[in-house]
Amino acid sequence: MKPTIPTIQARKRIALVAHDNKKNDLLEWARYNRETLSRHHLFGTGTTGRLLEKELDLPLTRFKSGPIGGDQQIGAKIAEGEIDFLIFFWDPLEPQPHDPDIKALLRLAVLYNIPTASNRATADFIISSPLMAREYEHKTPDLERYNAGRQKMLGEKS
Ligand code: PGA
Repeated sequence: MKPTIPTIQARKRIALVAHDNKKNDLLEWARYNRETLSRHHLFGTGTTGRLLEKELDLPLTRFKSGPIGGDQQIGAKIAEGEIDFLIFFWDPLEPQPHDPDIKALLRLAVLYNIPTASNRATADFIISSPLMAREYEHKTPDLERYNAGRQKMLGEKS
């Protein structure tokens, strides 16, 4: 089965997450980029999302708070092809109770070829890219083929 190459639309579905020590950084960045962000669909984990809604006065779909499943919800949306973009200011100096969820989210973002910014400089470069305002042919890995290969190795019939 040939992989489909979905298009990331000009109006992108952006997930925003920040750990507690990074929330001010993300809020400041989002305030500065409010106009650009207003042209996209916004998503966020519970607390980050609530703060962003207040700060930006823009519609945003909120998931659960990160430590109680919000990161996993975003990961699931990525796997379903419903999130195009991840701005995730995670804290490199503090362990989090949900470290496995964070690792899982970052893994899925890489697996599904999702543009991801983990710090402000990367977020600045990404948001000022001309691709932000255009459609983009989104090449994702051929996971059907990967799975078929595994099944063959395990002697299973597909
Ligand atoms: P929060 O979750 O936005 O609910 O604080 C973020 C996270 O810790 O992943």
